[in-house]
This record gives sequence, C-alpha cells and structure tokens, in this order.
Amino acid sequence: MTPEQFRQHGHEVVDWIADYWARLQQDPGSLPVRSQVSPGDVRAALPAQAPEQGEPFAAVLADLDRVVLPGLTHWQHPGFFGYFPANTSGPSVLGDLVSAGLGVQGMSWVTSPAATELEQHVMDWLAELLGLPESFRSTGTGGGVVQDSSSGANLVALLAALHRASKGATLRHGVLPEEYTVYVSAQTHSSMEKAARIAGLGTESIRVVEVDDELAMRPGALAARLERDVARGFTPVLVCATVGTTSTTAIDPLAELGPVCQRFGVWLHVDAAYAGVSAVAPELRALQAGVEWADSYTTDAHKWLLTGFDATLFWVADRAALTGALSILPEYLRNAATDAGAVVDYRDWQIELGRRFRALKLWFVLRWYGAEGLREHVRAHVALAQELAGWAASDERFDVVAPHPLSLVCLRPRWADGVDADVATMTLLERLNDGGEVFLTHTTVGGAAVLRVAIGAPATTRAHVERVWALLVEGHDWLANDFAELARE
Ligand code: PLP
Repeated sequence: MTPEQFRQHGHEVVDWIADYWARLQQDPGSLPVRSQVSPGDVRAALPAQAPEQGEPFAAVLADLDRVVLPGLTHWQHPGFFGYFPANTSGPSVLGDLVSAGLGVQGMSWVTSPAATELEQHVMDWLAELLGLPESFRSTGTGGGVVQDSSSGANLVALLAALHRASKGATLRHGVLPEEYTVYVSAQTHSSMEKAARIAGLGTESIRVVEVDDELAMRPGALAARLERDVARGFTPVLVCATVGTTSTTAIDPLAELGPVCQRFGVWLHVDAAYAGVSAVAPELRALQAGVEWADSYTTDAHKWLLTGFDATLFWVADRAALTGALSILPEYLRNAATDAGAVVDYRDWQIELGRRFRALKLWFVLRWYGAEGLREHVRAHVALAQELAGWAASDERFDVVAPHPLSLVCLRPRWADGVDADVATMTLLERLNDGGEVFLTHTTVGGAAVLRVAIGAPATTRAHVERVWALLVEGHDWLANDFAELARE
C-alpha cells in the first residue's frame, strides 16, 4: 500500500468508524447491544483459505459490515451496562493510529526516546490528576508505566514484591514451595490468583481474608492471618487490596490495611482497575483514603477514562524493587544511555521486551478533554448511577444489594414466596439481553444472583438509564406472574 493509497483508504476507515459511532448515538436500535450470532456463525461466513491474491480494499470494508459487525457486542453502545465499561474515544483512536503508523518499539529509551519520556511525563501528570502520592512520581523513588492490563500489572506487582521479600533471592533460585504467602479477599479479582500461579507460588500460597458486610477486607482478620503465618515460618509477600471490586465495587479500607502491611513488612498492592480513575474528581478521592500506604497501584484508563484498550496505569513507590525483579540486559540491547544509568528503559518494568507507544493515546485524550472534561465524564456516570439506585431503592420490586459509591448498581429483583429467585433473576437478565436494547451482566452476593448495571459507556445519557430501568421494571412485572403461577403449581 503506497502512502497515497493509505491516505485514501485511511479516510474511508475513519469515515466507517465515524459512521459507526454516529449510528450508535442516533440509531442505537439498529444494532442489538449483545451480538445475536450463534457459535461458529462468524467463521462460517469466512472463506476456508486465505486469499491467494490481494483484494480491493472495498471488499475488506464490505466484510466489516457483512461479517464483523453482526458478530460484535457493542461496548460503545449507550445501552451497554455489562461488566465494566471499556471506553474509547476519538482522540484515543487517533493516538493509537499515530502509534500504529509510527510503528516504533519503545523497549529501551534509546529505541525511541520520545516513547519513554512522553510516557514518564504523562504518568506523572496522571498521578497528580488522580491525587496519588508523591512517591509514585518519576521525580521521587517510584514512577509510572503503562501496562497492557491490570492482570499484567497485578503479576508485575507480585514479582516486585517477591523480589523485595526474598531480598533478591528469587532471581537465583526461584520460589521455594510453602515459603511465601499472598493475601486477598474472596472479592479480589481472579487475576491475582493467576499471578500467583504464574509466579510459581501456587494457589496454596493464597490466603483469603474475611470481608465485612459491605464486602470489604477486614483489617483485623488480615492482621490475624499475617501473625499466624509469620509464627509458622511463612514469609508474607503481598496484600492485594481492591478499590472497587469487580463484583460490586466494594472498597477495601486502605487507611487501615496500610499500617497492618507496614507492621509485617508486606507489600501493599492496590488494584483499582475500574474505580481508580474516578479519583480525577477530588470529591471521590475519599474512597481511596490511605493510598499513600501503597507500594504499587493499578487502574485502567481503558475501562472508564475514554482511552481504548490497552492502557493500564501502573505505579510503584520504589522502582528499584520492580527493575530488580525484571531487568535483564542481553548484549544486543546495550547502549551508552543505559550503561550510564541516565535513562529509564521500560522493558525492565514489564513482562515483555517489546512495547507499543501507548502513551500517545493517553496524551491525546488528556489534551483533548483536559482534566475538566475527564472529571465531567466520571461525574456524569456517578450521578446517573445514584439516580438509578434511588429509583430502585424506592421500588418494592427491587433491592439495592450493595453500596454503590461509583457507577455500578447491583440490584436483586424481588419475587413471590416459593419462586426460585435465582432462576427468575437470570431469566429476567436473559430477557433483557435478548431484547437487544440493553446489555447487563450478573454476579452473586451472599450466594444469590444479582443484576449488575454498570453505567460508563461514553454515549450513555440519562434517557438510556431511564430506559434500562423501565425495561427492568417491565420485565419484572412480565415474569413475576408466570413464576408465581409456576410456584403455585
Ligand atoms: N482487577 C479488577 C478489580 C477488575 O475489575 C478487573 C477487570 O474487570 C481486572 C483486575 C482485570 O483487568 P484487565 O482486563 O485490565 O486485566
């Protein structure tokens, strides 16, 4: 493809994306939020073999409409209320486009100094915008880095913590069975357990600390577990506290967990994958009071900060622990800047060697929206969630089952006595998702099925939240009689 051909087809692709976004906003009903295809449908629409000859670009674009679009669940749809949001935006896509066009590898400072220095700078900006501690800034002992995912960040945090806890010994002889322990709650994201497996600790290293009625980790229970393990000769490595758990957005109390971690010399990692970016609004920072105790912290701009996947913001207070665990310098990567110790080489801050220029999209987003635009984005969704929770709380057909400090509301529909509530709730969920106007997901709270309404798609407005509420009520009324009748039979 020549530059001129790229210009022409590039414009066509940008038009295609702009048309898609316009359609999501102006005619969302024409696209069911959840894909309606069956397993195998997408592959069946594709030729068995790769093309022998190149094809006109128009054929590729036509297949985007014919094959890809029907097989999509539309995460940017204003009726998307599932999981957590996965925002994208114009400046983010354009930043990614520039990154793709430049095609540079930012593994070492010398391989593209702008990739490293822009990332350091943007991460310092973001640390300030989120009110994170001074120790996380590149000007102090720590620093920030863009990772591919919070799962990856959780693993990297664990490796750094292991390095510190073992005083570097894991570099030489790995981990010894039954030596190290990791502390989570039953609400911690599964990626932390995966990280323990990958790190070679095994699931037996995991200690599941009790939670309170609001599903937050109990500091007293953590202290008791740590005491018991130390007395038995284990070495506690890391406590993973969550700000905004995946299931219900429960908040582990950092201000109380921090001193416990310090007493036992254990690394405090804060997983704020979804919720962390809300701190861009100062009035929401109280949720993570005590964050200054954290040794490391992760939050995803690719969930709720108008930046497309992948853009995990990860900070450490002591970058030496991280680079101590991960740095390795084969001869072919040696260069004067690295040898002089004058630069940051981000390959020493992550699992992979190669890395994309992800800071560009963050930079574009920050410059387009400004801090004020990002605050408005988050505040609008939080306000909508509070309204929805208010409607549900005053309706006898629903219970709001967990605190909703941000933009996720967990609802349990009420059903008549004798009705299998979980079956009825899941039937309601399927009915709503099959309808195509909205998409919700579920969780369990106290062992019972609960509907999660996660507000956060960039195009979602009050009208869409009113609509999901109307559909919930209507669906409930529709099913309540059927299920009550079934229960009587
Ligand atoms: N941690 C928490 C608390 C999450 O909610 C999630 C995903 O929702 C993750 C980690 C994993 O995030 P990622 O998809 O960036 O790996």
